[in-house]
Amino acid sequence: MLLGAHEGIAGGVSTAFTRAEADGADCLQIFTRNARGWAAKPLEAEEIARFKGEAKRTKLPTAAHSSYLINCCSEDADIRRKSWAGLADELGRCEALGIPSLIFHPGSHCDEAEGIRLVAEAMERALDAVPGKARLLVETTAGQGSSLGWRFEHVAAIRDAVPAAKRRRVGVCVDTCHVFAAGYDITHEAGYHRTIEELDRVVGLANVRAFHLNDSKKPLGCRVDRHEHIGEGAMGITPFRFLVNDARFAELPGFVETESRWKENIEVLRGLVRRR
Ligand SMILES: [Zn+2]
Repeated sequence: MLLGAHEGIAGGVSTAFTRAEADGADCLQIFTRNARGWAAKPLEAEEIARFKGEAKRTKLPTAAHSSYLINCCSEDADIRRKSWAGLADELGRCEALGIPSLIFHPGSHCDEAEGIRLVAEAMERALDAVPGKARLLVETTAGQGSSLGWRFEHVAAIRDAVPAAKRRRVGVCVDTCHVFAAGYDITHEAGYHRTIEELDRVVGLANVRAFHLNDSKKPLGCRVDRHEHIGEGAMGITPFRFLVNDARFAELPGFVETESRWKENIEVLRGLVRRR
């Protein structure tokens, strides 16, 4: 697995690469806009050029994470409208920057089936609005409140609800903290293998394009999303050892999303990799 972190973009999206280099990362995830506001200025041509220059110089693969405000299946029509527009805008930013994947949370809706339908429709519209290669990756969630995506079946159903012609631009991002909080016990060998088999059967491992590597502050099945530093939470170090040595995921990026100590967390993960 390629090991990296979510890097800051203060000073412009292109500045994230030097932060990733300082953290000793193999890859990086960024926001392409302010993650806590709806309004976003368009990217300037100069900044796009700088970003592409840095991507070429460092050769570090990138992914983007969407704004936290986006809830494509919100029961509030105004939020839903803003979310659908925001998803398309962010996918367009990825396409412009040459970022291959936009990772987003499916959102919350009290009716599962209706929520799944709305998310898939938002995705279809965003993919229509932004022709090109950039993919949408649905992230597995902890299942807080009425949020969707905490069962692999939700993620698969969302993908299946996108018309077949556009589905090749739809993938999945698996967050370790979220799956654990959702009740998938990957902390011991049998549980890890059972979970990955289930992921393969329900979602298909070929559709898994990225991982978020986070430990959890909260216990198994708590349905609460609280990231902890690698090996310091309720999951412990063992599941990360399984993941970073799993040959099926050797080519995929894994991003640490703790609030600090990215370099240290990447070092801890790298220390788990068995030499061949
Ligand atoms: Zn995540």
